[in-house]
Amino acid sequence: MIRNLWNDLEGTFFPESALDFMPQSQLRQVQLQRLKAITAHAYANVDLFRKRMDERGLKPQDIRSLDDIRLLPFTVKSDLRDTYPYGLFAVPISEVVRLHASSGTTGKPIVVGYTASDMEVWKQVIMRTLYSAGFHRGDVVQNIYGYGLFTGGLGLHGGLEGIGATVIPISGGNSERQIMVMKDFEVTAICSTPSYFIHLIEVAQKMGLDFKRDLKVKRGVFGAEPWTDPMRDYIQQTTGVEAYDIYGLSEIIGPGVGAECHCRDGLHIFEDHFLVEILDPETLEPVPDGQEGELVLTTLSKQAMPILRYRTRDITSIDARPCGCGRSIRRIKRISRRSDDMFIIRGVNVFPSQIEIALLKTEANLPHYQIVLTRKSGLDRMCVRVEVSGELVGDRIADIESLQKRFARSIEQITGLHAEIELVQPGTIPRSEGKAKRLFDKRNEEGV
Ligand SMILES: [Zn+2]
Repeated sequence: MIRNLWNDLEGTFFPESALDFMPQSQLRQVQLQRLKAITAHAYANVDLFRKRMDERGLKPQDIRSLDDIRLLPFTVKSDLRDTYPYGLFAVPISEVVRLHASSGTTGKPIVVGYTASDMEVWKQVIMRTLYSAGFHRGDVVQNIYGYGLFTGGLGLHGGLEGIGATVIPISGGNSERQIMVMKDFEVTAICSTPSYFIHLIEVAQKMGLDFKRDLKVKRGVFGAEPWTDPMRDYIQQTTGVEAYDIYGLSEIIGPGVGAECHCRDGLHIFEDHFLVEILDPETLEPVPDGQEGELVLTTLSKQAMPILRYRTRDITSIDARPCGCGRSIRRIKRISRRSDDMFIIRGVNVFPSQIEIALLKTEANLPHYQIVLTRKSGLDRMCVRVEVSGELVGDRIADIESLQKRFARSIEQITGLHAEIELVQPGTIPRSEGKAKRLFDKRNEEGV
């Protein structure tokens, strides 16, 4: 009863979200002011930025308009590795109240830092993210993102507390316990990577539970890896959970860079804190609104670690049209692919998401698959290992062959390439508790 009253009183107006509705002209002024300030801050305090700007004969006061951002140097991921651990920090370590780091399986991780004011900004953008997805006080939220050095868990956590939700900081893993908690604690909302949540759907089924019948989860925010519309359809149809996409990356702030609203037609970027450019990845020139290119982001308010023109490798486009929700901050198209993930086989550019769409088009199959690239006698070969449901394996050989052919035809229609299809038993493809690994490129391995 009390919970419902709170929703009614406070569920209608969220002061933090007011910034999402700021008039465009005012927003551009805020951006320009902040761009000037952050450029000066980065120049004065970070050797790498000062050196690169000096090489271009550029001073902070040369930034006079938003278009002048094109004068500034780019930042790439290796810059963060090369300056490990604190080389890009613009404040003394005594000002830094939080450190996070990427899990980096190869070499050194990348380290990111936050001042107290950065933490406040982070909390605010996560609150705006959560309001966009319809989260509110009274929600019992199972936060399945990893807690620890990864920005996902604690990032979402701050915003969840900020909106007054009841947070369960469960982190990833221990799938049966996840389902038990979801049921017993009467969880109403979820934060998770989409691939792990899909795994949890299977676990619930094995435990004899039906999401729609036995659980109270109504909505979820899903991110930290690219995912496709067919995956969203699968989640929503199987569980009745409204699935919202969120976007962010540790180098910029963590989760909280952008989020879908109830229209779910692209992700609004919190433009008062992050300046968006979409560039042709080859020429690095801007592309017109609506055209795909690489997303490049500049942090406009980050004090501990300002980042100028970070090349995210994510491929998307700007949607500058007004959104049905009335937010004035612009949207980017959902990111289903990264230029990093792209592989080239026999001269053709292929993204794992294209394979996923091809598989999902063919059968209402869970997207448990792996792409294995090998080289034999100098020729590249692509093998797609697909997990099928119990009924399909072990039946007549003819059925298996016809299914393999249908998968192969669908992949060929989308990519123009032939793929060998290996059907594997349910549960064979390892389930990830975080981001799913889809691509295994073994072309340069000995003996292949
Ligand atoms: Zn909207």
